[in-house]
Amino acid sequence: MKKILILGSTGSIGTNALELIRNNREHYQVIGISGNKNIELLKKQIEEFKPTSIYVGSEQDALNLKKEYPFLKEIYFGENGLAELSKNSDYDIILTAVSGAIGIDATVEAIKREKRIALANKETMVSAGAYINKLLKEYPKAEIVPVDSEHSALFQSLQGFKKENVKKLIITASGGTFRGKDLAYLENVTVEQALKHPNWSMGKKITIDSSTLVNKGLEVIEAHELFNVDYDNIEVIVHPQSIVHSMVEYVDGSIIAQMGVANMKTPILYAFTYPEKEFNSSINFLNLIKTNNLTFEEPDRKTFKGIDLAYRAGKIGGTMPTVFNASNEVAVELFMKKKIKFLDVYRIIEEAMNSHQILSLNTDNALNIIKEVDRETRKKVREQWER
Ligand code: NDP
Ligand code: MG
Repeated sequence: MKKILILGSTGSIGTNALELIRNNREHYQVIGISGNKNIELLKKQIEEFKPTSIYVGSEQDALNLKKEYPFLKEIYFGENGLAELSKNSDYDIILTAVSGAIGIDATVEAIKREKRIALANKETMVSAGAYINKLLKEYPKAEIVPVDSEHSALFQSLQGFKKENVKKLIITASGGTFRGKDLAYLENVTVEQALKHPNWSMGKKITIDSSTLVNKGLEVIEAHELFNVDYDNIEVIVHPQSIVHSMVEYVDGSIIAQMGVANMKTPILYAFTYPEKEFNSSINFLNLIKTNNLTFEEPDRKTFKGIDLAYRAGKIGGTMPTVFNASNEVAVELFMKKKIKFLDVYRIIEEAMNSHQILSLNTDNALNIIKEVDRETRKKVREQWER
């Protein structure tokens, strides 16, 4: 029986994970969950899974929950609460499925305890990847198994082969809601349009990121940080059917791919069961005969600047990926509040990157520098664009 802590249990990945656990109760026990504002759902989860440790956004909600559910031993809230939950509760595997760079500290605490981290929260790897990798060297028994479907596919396609024989990582992209559209069309697209993803059902922030292809950019940096492969050897190709989740090309000319239906349960479960593939994920399996042609095409990087901005940020390194991520997080929030237009997302990221003085992260103070740059970037973008 493995003990699981889920950060972001009320979100899209979190609820998928709980469904998996519901169907595999003899193997997994939920010891901790976290929500922010969706208290109704959090309560249902507490009643069903009876965790002992939880996090919730506000102190008032924490007090109410404590009264209502006396079996809860630890209740955390506020700024450091997620990290405290990760630091103190009794788990074997932590699934980090909060959205955004707020997940960094909790991941750091899990590494220090040398736990298995099922990492969905890609923003942590983008914003703080350099620091996380340094920390992983200090705590060699800690292990990150990616949940992001492309990275799960890459991770699986890398099993059993030597890193030096990898020629390139090929990350697939659905192309997003606006695939094939031009700049004139994108100028006036709405939040409602951007929130309609053709293949995946996900949280709002990542769905907007998919429509700008910033998500693919974040994934390029995430892949670089997770697998230590040069940016020149990471390629993005559009595969509208989202069946091939990503591939690794080797020096002998073979390409190893991982395929399946577009369902996050498979990568979540793999991050729990790695290095095995066991237990039932209760999804509809892929029917290859009924699957239409699998097609691959070049992404339109001129229109969807999210990819190239990420390569630029990643290649520059230092604190630039932190700026790329933080400016995008605020831009997406402003777009969802209808305060900016769709294409302003790129303008915001570009401006933030252009005005940033890069700092080196080759110092013991790296995490503080990352946090400071993250804070400053958010502040600057808000000052200029929040009207
Ligand atoms: P959702 O928006 O659906 O869920 C986010 C979760 O984080 C919710 O539980 C939410 O709580 C919680 N949360 C939000 N803000 C805060 C905060 N300030 N403090 C504490 N908790 C907070 O996101 P997804 O599940 O879609 O994505 C989660 C992560 O996984 C992201 O990093 C995303 O990029 C990554 N990912 C997601 C995929 C998907 O299919 N959804 C695929 C690949 C990666 P509440 O709702 O209660 O307010
Ligand atoms: Mg992905």
